[in-house]
Amino acid sequence: MDLLEYQGKQLFARRGVPVPEGRLATSPDEARKAAEELGFPVVVKAQVQIGGRGKAGGIKLANDAGEAEAHAEAILGMDIRGLTVHEVWVERASDIAAEYYAAVVFDRSAKKPLVMLSAAGGMEIEEVAEEKIARLHVDPLVGFLPFHGRRLAFEAAIDADVVRPVGAMLAKLYDAFIGFDAMLVEVNPLIVTGDREVTALDAKVTVDDNALGRQPEIAEMRNPSTEDPQEQMAKERGVTYVKLDGEIGILGNGAGLVMSTLDVVAQAGGRPANFLDVGGGAKAEEIVAALEVLLSDEKVKAVLFNIFGGITRCDEVANGILQALDQIDVSVPIVVRLDGTNDEEGRRILAEADAAQLHPAKTMLEAADLVVKLSKEGAPA
Ligand code: GDP
Ligand code: MN
Repeated sequence: MDLLEYQGKQLFARRGVPVPEGRLATSPDEARKAAEELGFPVVVKAQVQIGGRGKAGGIKLANDAGEAEAHAEAILGMDIRGLTVHEVWVERASDIAAEYYAAVVFDRSAKKPLVMLSAAGGMEIEEVAEEKIARLHVDPLVGFLPFHGRRLAFEAAIDADVVRPVGAMLAKLYDAFIGFDAMLVEVNPLIVTGDREVTALDAKVTVDDNALGRQPEIAEMRNPSTEDPQEQMAKERGVTYVKLDGEIGILGNGAGLVMSTLDVVAQAGGRPANFLDVGGGAKAEEIVAALEVLLSDEKVKAVLFNIFGGITRCDEVANGILQALDQIDVSVPIVVRLDGTNDEEGRRILAEADAAQLHPAKTMLEAADLVVKLSKEGAPA
């Protein structure tokens, strides 16, 4: 579960991580009052679960009440990369002398938390050169020790006078990461103010969904209206769905098969739009639910349905697909690869239906090549 910036900052504050004082507002009038209480200048920040808000015009400085109200008016309702802004966080503005990057992530391959620090903050971390990011794996049984913080600070070559406070900040972020069962705690930027105070200016916290049972306060922070519209729709319909940013919709039965389908499509030169596991789902209503989620993403230009029949029978899946096509309007091509139990029968059913959108395929490679080709044909010139 991804938290909004202000929710992350509330958690930080509980673990002693310094954050600027702020208030939440859902209307321009509330933003004005919040700003007056805080004192000027303030920063009005869009609360959406996506980075790059600054560049998108979702973060604005206000020097008086009128400006705060006007900025909130402009930002509320704004669309930031597909997400609508419903709330703004009004925060006392910070005087920034330096911007760093700090994060704690769970590194699955090392099976350990990984702490990162870079002097190149404020920009997207993907754009920062590898060697400019200091990294340290933490043994979870030993924990994060003070010298770990200093070592990272030296390695990242941050200003010498803040090595100790930044090291201490990393220890607190690690403490928050563990205490809140997080998978990610990212602070970009971590700033040094003009008075050389170290403060978290942004907060990105992802909490392990499996831990929400013992983090009831965090579970209550879930805010469906700010989630990605497709992911929200998927959750409501009980579909396992992860949005990616390509144009080929992927559907399969079984997480492992879907994962390998993503790889094969990428290998064929396509970019997957999502991960969608229909499980054993062969019933028309399950396929309708999955296709509706998938097709509500306007970027999807073609769909690959990859089914390996085991207990799930391919003929049932074929019938389910046909019934689904009767119920919803599908304008993009759908490549269907059926293999396994009753696959011949399934392909025969699809071929006889003679639906213009359907393209049966036998092997995964054949299906991937075809779907990539069709997605490009359909693309506007
Ligand atoms: P993001 O664009 O979604 O990552 O949002 P951030 O909270 O990281 O803000 C983006 C940038 O806006 C920061 O890197 C700062 O340069 C700037 N910014 C945000 N808050 C303040 C502030 O209080 N004072 C100043 N001077 N700049 C700020
Ligand atoms: Mn940021």
